[in-house]
Amino acid sequence: MNFTPTEDQLAVQKTAREFAQQEVLPKAAEIDREHRHPAELVKRMAELGFLGMAIPESYGGAGLDHVSYAIAMEEISRACASTGVIMSVNNSLVCDPIYRFGTDAQKQEWLTPLASGKLLGCFALSEPEAGSDAAAQKTTAERDPSGDGWVINGTKNWITNGPVADVCVLFTMNDKAAGHKGITAFILPMDTKGVRCGPPDDKLGIRGSKSSQIYLDDVRLPAGLVLGEVGGGFKVAMSTLDGGRIGIAAQAIGIARAALEDALAYAQQRRTMGKAIVQHQAIAFKLADMATEIDAARLLCLRAAYLKDAKQPYGREAAMAKLFASDVANRAAREAIQIFGGNGYVTEYPVERHFRDAKITEIYEGTSEIQRLVIAGYLAKGG
Ligand SMILES: Cc1cc2nc3c(=O)[nH]c(=O)nc-3n(C[C@H](O)[C@H](O)[C@H](O)COP(=O)(O)OP(=O)(O)OC[C@H]3O[C@@H](n4cnc5c(N)ncnc54)[C@H](O)[C@@H]3O)c2cc1C
Repeated sequence: MNFTPTEDQLAVQKTAREFAQQEVLPKAAEIDREHRHPAELVKRMAELGFLGMAIPESYGGAGLDHVSYAIAMEEISRACASTGVIMSVNNSLVCDPIYRFGTDAQKQEWLTPLASGKLLGCFALSEPEAGSDAAAQKTTAERDPSGDGWVINGTKNWITNGPVADVCVLFTMNDKAAGHKGITAFILPMDTKGVRCGPPDDKLGIRGSKSSQIYLDDVRLPAGLVLGEVGGGFKVAMSTLDGGRIGIAAQAIGIARAALEDALAYAQQRRTMGKAIVQHQAIAFKLADMATEIDAARLLCLRAAYLKDAKQPYGREAAMAKLFASDVANRAAREAIQIFGGNGYVTEYPVERHFRDAKITEIYEGTSEIQRLVIAGYLAKGG
């Protein structure tokens, strides 16, 4: 692994940092307060090439690597975690599986507009009774008796971008007896008859990210919209989540950095007992621990991204990165509130938002318990 960023990676960091600081950060509190989908920032991310970063230019992407993607995700999430997850879903959970499993025709029709940001995507795996147990899919896909297509019925839960998405990577059960080998993925245009979103979820954090249930009522899809092989959907889902965990790890690192940078600035100007609180060792040590853990989390995240770019196995490393980075984000946000004292507890200052935003990183794309199961699974296999 090379610790020296390439010129491209440095350029991405500069662009992402400027965009995040100048255009995203000034709106972050309002996006959170108003529970507002930041459509204008999504449009800007499309212009900057941030919605299909690791997709080749021939399919509408920016043709960059996953290290660049992790770098940009961190910068944008440092400013606004809601904007970060909108970007992460489109890159990791929508463009990536269509690129890896789609036919050329599917890539031309769907990947190109998604990667260039003309369309926005969502990823619908979870159901009311299938979260951690993703193989327990109840959404059915049956052969359409009137043609060569499929008829889909079911309910998906907590689908990020759902209410604002144009396209969905959808998972269904087409053969219950076959267990996880009976799961099939589809590319679902969200304007298909029979598709309906519930009201947006009222969430603790990432309030600018719209998520909802998706109801599928006799949705008819042609065979040409099967993504990958019939019965191959579980592989599509699990391999996609491996990559997604790099994005969520980077999001968590961005939130942790926001907590550290805000807490450091506050500690330098807030005075008690004749000195700035940063000069009290109890406060300085908290900041030192936060900085150390953030660097460690970033190294884990970049290692996973580097391995993905090198086309080497990276599932274990991505799970470790997400597990550790989400823990770091929650700890950093909690300590930032402590450093702010009473001011940390009120919405006038940003750290209570970081605290609320951090929590989701321990839940979605596999809870921390599931990351430990994944890592332990690799250990059991000797990896
Ligand atoms: C804001 C938000 C956005 C989301 N976005 C999406 C999205 O875009 N697409 C999508 O498909 N899903 C999405 N999800 C769903 C998310 O991935 C699930 O909530 C998550 O995987 C956990 O599933 P669950 O909520 O059903 O919890 P459960 O699976 O019911 O788990 C409950 C608890 O039990 C633990 N647990 C479960 N099984 C085990 C086990 N075998 N061993 C040890 N502990 C276990 C869990 O870790 C957790 O602590 C989103 C969720 C939220 C809240």
